[in-house]
Amino acid sequence: MNTILQQLHLVHDRIAAAATDCDRHPNEVQLLAVSKTKPAADVLTAYQAGQRQFGENYVQEAIDKIQTLKAQCPGICWHLIGPLQSNKTRQVAEAFDWVQSVDRLKIAERLSAQRPGNMRPLNICLQVNISQEANKSGVLPSEADALAAAIAALPGLCLRGLMAIPEATDNSDKLTTQLLELQQLFDRMAEKYPDMDTLSMGMSNDLELAVACGSTLVRVGTAIFGSRNV
Ligand SMILES: *Cc1c(COP(=O)(O)O)cnc(C)c1O
Repeated sequence: MNTILQQLHLVHDRIAAAATDCDRHPNEVQLLAVSKTKPAADVLTAYQAGQRQFGENYVQEAIDKIQTLKAQCPGICWHLIGPLQSNKTRQVAEAFDWVQSVDRLKIAERLSAQRPGNMRPLNICLQVNISQEANKSGVLPSEADALAAAIAALPGLCLRGLMAIPEATDNSDKLTTQLLELQQLFDRMAEKYPDMDTLSMGMSNDLELAVACGSTLVRVGTAIFGSRNV
């Protein structure tokens, strides 16, 4: 068995154990394999092991992989999880299935207008700045409702959930508080928006805690593909 296969199994085992520990069904938590900086061949290896959802941070790098793998990987699903500038929205609207990093209406409006009519609406998660750090991407929790309402009205988009990158901290109480705040915000919003089913939080180092706090989608890079050099 090669390393990516072994690591994928280990991550699935971690997710299942974390879910079981908090009386959730392992199927409630999906795995997004974060393949940024890794070659298309690595994505193909994971795909052949059954992985379907992949996350990318850099638009051009992602588009290259999407084109390379298109014919070989039916049913593959691409999520943009990195920052998006307005001059790249057209490429993203034409190539991705999800954008999880939306934190401004202007970007959402462009994505909606540029989504090709023959494709399904682009799935959107609002990125929320749960730690309220000054220079961090994400809408503030207090502004998330207004942004969600505006996005839900856009025809080319489907509002699916919330995404957060928590503060880098060793203080697990602080982290837990932030993740639970996001869960509460998500639960409130999901009552209003029927398509909202995705709470995207948890990465290689904190997926267990995120699952305990209600995550439905963990975004895992290093623990599957190894460390990144860039
Ligand atoms: C890189 C990245 C991840 C994956 O992080 P790992 O620690 O490698 O698992 C998850 N989410 C976002 C938004 C990222 O940029």
